[in-house]
Amino acid sequence: MDENQFETKAIRDGYRSTQEQEHSEAIFLTSSFVFDSAEQAEKRFSKEDPGNIYSRFTNPTVEAFEKKLASLEGSQACVATSSGMAAIFATLMSLLKSGDHIVASRSMFGTTIVLLDSIVSKFNIEISYVNLGNIKDWQGSIKKNTKMFLLETPSNPLGEVVDIEKLSKVAKSSNILFAVDNAVLTPALQNPISLGADIVIHSATKYIDGQGRCLAGAVLGSEEVIDQVHSFVRTSGPSLSAFNAWVVLKGLETLRLRMNEHCNNALKLAVWLEHHSEVEKVHYLGLESHQSHELAKKQQSGFGGIVSFEVKGGKEKAFKVINSTEMVSITANLGDTKTTITHPASTTHSRLSDNEKQKVGINDSLIRVSVGLESVDDVIADINKGLSV
Ligand SMILES: *Cc1c(COP(=O)(O)O)cnc(C)c1O
Repeated sequence: MDENQFETKAIRDGYRSTQEQEHSEAIFLTSSFVFDSAEQAEKRFSKEDPGNIYSRFTNPTVEAFEKKLASLEGSQACVATSSGMAAIFATLMSLLKSGDHIVASRSMFGTTIVLLDSIVSKFNIEISYVNLGNIKDWQGSIKKNTKMFLLETPSNPLGEVVDIEKLSKVAKSSNILFAVDNAVLTPALQNPISLGADIVIHSATKYIDGQGRCLAGAVLGSEEVIDQVHSFVRTSGPSLSAFNAWVVLKGLETLRLRMNEHCNNALKLAVWLEHHSEVEKVHYLGLESHQSHELAKKQQSGFGGIVSFEVKGGKEKAFKVINSTEMVSITANLGDTKTTITHPASTTHSRLSDNEKQKVGINDSLIRVSVGLESVDDVIADINKGLSV
């Protein structure tokens, strides 16, 4: 069904019903699968017969999610994981070895940086950090043993962007695997593989579920790459549960519709904030005032649901705005139907030193909103409670 549109693939791809002819996808809550005979068991284990053996290896509901997501990302293969962090860790541990070097963006999800600095580094894998948007920085950090580029674009919360196509050429010319964490935009708004990336990583916990119900992750790429990641996952254990696979599988069906509405609501909030006298600066890629607006327009089909803004009056005012909300949820999570609000400097980015915060542009006046699917007028009214004096 390759020729179908995204919306059709999101609904129709990935699942083959059982002999019961169920219309909605079945959840295969089983740890193991039985064989007709000892001969069949032998063939399954030798891979001559490709059927299921054990749900740490494969499971039909998990496979339906993997196939649907692969179809939407335009990638050959996909392996699902128990969370986004498991997806990142599996990617690194399966494709790198002791003595390798990776170049990573300084502006990544906080736990990804902790994973690199405190766990991956213990295995004699060297990490260099660069400024996301600066291609020369990436180029200049390449060493003989550089095996991977790792980044998120756009970054969260400020929406820095790198030209994926340009950077993929740099990676290719040095035989470097190029991995993009696409959780913030999803395949509904950005297809890194079509722009030249080798690997796409997801936290499906965010917009793919989109309703804050479970943790899930995925890694996508060529069969050759995904075979290695899958082998790591089935051997070390962070496989996705069938139940959670079903949740994110159903989430994919409405992904485009939800992402479009997240974008519409985010733009309305951003425009309103930009005209507010108590707001110093708004960071939203959909605004022409954002320095990466043109590049985002070129490589994304939407600007996403995350809006950040700096208030006049520092931390005290920022806390007042957050504490005065009555509907919007005070939580560090994002990508939910419910709008969430947080103060990055004291939560998601609190472990950074003042110097590091300055380098990535996180100051005490900054508030991040993950704009949900409520009426945006109600969201605006709620945020205005502590903003207007
Ligand atoms: C949340 C998030 C992760 C981690 O995903 P979990 O599902 O919470 O493990 C990784 N990358 C990005 C960009 C995220 O937003």
